[in-house]
Amino acid sequence: MTSRVSAAPTCDCEAKCVIFISRTKKNPDRPFFRCPYYGQIRKTHCDYFMWEDDFIASQAAMVELQETTIERKMEAMIIQMNKDMKAMKIQINKDMEAKINELKRDTEYKFNILEREIEAMTFQISADVVAFDIKHLSLGGLKGSK
Ligand SMILES: [Zn+2]
Repeated sequence: MTSRVSAAPTCDCEAKCVIFISRTKKNPDRPFFRCPYYGQIRKTHCDYFMWEDDFIASQAAMVELQETTIERKMEAMIIQMNKDMKAMKIQINKDMEAKINELKRDTEYKFNILEREIEAMTFQISADVVAFDIKHLSLGGLKGSK
């Protein structure tokens, strides 16, 4: 907390209260706040009154309440962030799975095409070889006959 007199409550006239010291038997030397216009005959004043220790306690309670509120808000934010992260992880996993499956399908498809192309090429090569052999055999036959 700040020092004892630096913070003062605002009275019903919206004015900063003034501190006084009680000299009563019941509350000797006990500081209290009052409307700054109190006791000034020419000005009207409100009946605001508060013991300084009560005011400090209320301020402390207010700070505590604010801290609790902030803490609760942060907790709620953390919970929400964890939820969001979980959802993101699930989404990423789903996306990755979909991408992997897509890649698999794509690769399989390309592989099939390649396999067919190789088969066709092999077939073509063997056909060419057969044709070459036949050509040479017949040429050889021709040469041999000459
Ligand atoms: Zn006042």
